[in-house]
Amino acid sequence: MSEPPSDCLFCRMVAGEIAPDVVRETDRTLAFRDINPQAPTHVLVVPREHHATLGALTAADPGLTGELVAAAHAVALQEGLVADGGAEPGYRLVANTGPQAGQTVHHVHLHVLGGRGLGWPPG
Ligand code: C5P
Repeated sequence: MSEPPSDCLFCRMVAGEIAPDVVRETDRTLAFRDINPQAPTHVLVVPREHHATLGALTAADPGLTGELVAAAHAVALQEGLVADGGAEPGYRLVANTGPQAGQTVHHVHLHVLGGRGLGWPPG
């Protein structure tokens, strides 16, 4: 685990200093509604441990990367974006990584987006 910056927003949520709208938690992950939703369902899934990016997380603990993806899929099921074992109507996972992709919070997170048709390619 890299040393988290003291002002890391998602570390503060994990620590309970800021209360997000939590939709699901596991011992190693936390999922909460995005404050600025881009779709009817827009949930962020973060590891409780601080890692800045998906690459940093995967280098440090690839098993936790798997748990993060599994947690995101569990959110999609819970939110009714897909049925168990199915892919209808569907959802999208996004991991913005680095400035060119628009990453603004430097604690790795997966966006779970669904509830409307999602265009491709993304902007
Ligand atoms: O991928 P990116 O780093 O841009 O995503 C950060 C996300 O964190 C944004 O979608 C933003 O709306 C969300 N956010 C939040 N609560 C905050 C600050 C940011 O849900 N207090």
